[in-house]
Amino acid sequence: MHHFHGSCHCGNLEVDYSATVAPEDAAVRACQCSFCRKHDARALSDPSGAIEITVHDQDLLERYRFGLGATDFLICRKCGVYVSAYMQDGDDAYANVMVNVLDDREQFPQPNPVDLDGENEAGKRQRRRDNWTPATLRIGTD
Ligand SMILES: [Zn+2]
Repeated sequence: MHHFHGSCHCGNLEVDYSATVAPEDAAVRACQCSFCRKHDARALSDPSGAIEITVHDQDLLERYRFGLGATDFLICRKCGVYVSAYMQDGDDAYANVMVNVLDDREQFPQPNPVDLDGENEAGKRQRRRDNWTPATLRIGTD
């Protein structure tokens, strides 16, 4: 396993990402939706890995939703950084991580553009179960 740590700019949201793929071999995605283009987001996930998101102050967590509303886009209200897209799925949850928040972001290759605008909600949820990383969200721990 390869372990990566990241955070928003002020440190309120932290991410610990474990991946089976080395950074130089990772498939980084540049989602072409209107939200991700505004952030120039570069997304990463590994269905065999793990993502743990730690929220130190819950009042400063924005769970932004748009479109189909199936996903929480986790943004720090204090510093404005977009950290992860997170989908609750019954008792499970899946997420990706934004390469730009990782301490080792320079190690990852350039992203490939992906256009997912044509998907319906069922298609989106299934793709995330297949491709995103099993995730846990820890609130209010220091
Ligand atoms: Zn922050």
